[in-house]
Amino acid sequence: MSQAIKIARWAAKTLETKNTCLIRTHVSLAVRICIAAREEGLKLTGATFMGGGEPPTPAKIAHITHIGARWIPTYFFTEVGAVGIGCAQPFDENDLHFFKDAFALIQLPSPVPGSNIVVDAFCFTTLLPSAPKIMLNVAIDDYGMIERRTCHCPLEGYGFTEHLCHVRSFHKLTGEGVTLVGSEMLHILEEVLPARFGGSPLNYQLLEEEDEQGFTRLSLLVSPSLGAIDEEALISTVMESLKQSSVAADLARAIWNQAKILRVKRMEPLWTLRGKLMPLHLTKGQKLPIEKGEKK
Ligand SMILES: [Zn+2]
Repeated sequence: MSQAIKIARWAAKTLETKNTCLIRTHVSLAVRICIAAREEGLKLTGATFMGGGEPPTPAKIAHITHIGARWIPTYFFTEVGAVGIGCAQPFDENDLHFFKDAFALIQLPSPVPGSNIVVDAFCFTTLLPSAPKIMLNVAIDDYGMIERRTCHCPLEGYGFTEHLCHVRSFHKLTGEGVTLVGSEMLHILEEVLPARFGGSPLNYQLLEEEDEQGFTRLSLLVSPSLGAIDEEALISTVMESLKQSSVAADLARAIWNQAKILRVKRMEPLWTLRGKLMPLHLTKGQKLPIEKGEKK
């Protein structure tokens, strides 16, 4: 990650001779490469970044297009592979064509844990005998809209007429492309930290927000009422606990650590308008859409 400039230089050099190049990576890492390129005055016109794993927000994509490159979103799960790919005439940064030859998709109204918000969760069913795993209406914690729309791109020509839009994960946090299971973080916020640093679960909160450059930042909010706290010890306690909880959490920890995206903020945790305190508070991509798209 600290070597983003090397990839930027490679891309610029490749573009000189071949006029095009493809880099597959998560959007946050693509942004790092583009910022590194810009800082060194490199142009990446003709480069394509392609990936998934976290919402490609307008702020992030602006960094990519600003330097002449483009972003193609993909949507896939480890278990079954790609379920969608970016439209060539996109409506927004994450306009995907749904692979309806390989999957069926329905939506199930599902409550977001720790809130009274209901979202239309995606439930996928595999259709092909070649699917690596059989899934039958499996909810994968994502929600969004399904719509049939004419875009006149080649994928539509192949019969992929359904678009998936505004896809978000609803009870995971995403940071630098790694999803972290919410329950593991909840345990840390509600049990590990109060036990070690005092206070109660109400004094700690993880806030996901986007900084001025479009990077995902995670702030660990700690109530000032707890008095002086060794912030370094706090961060290392979180990192250590993540390391112990699961392989996925440990991977997230490694990336957070490397990208230094977790920081401590001394302020009171944020409460919802309805008077709830959600241990994981998202300010990025707010407005959980409840409206429905045209269903299949
Ligand atoms: Zn299209």
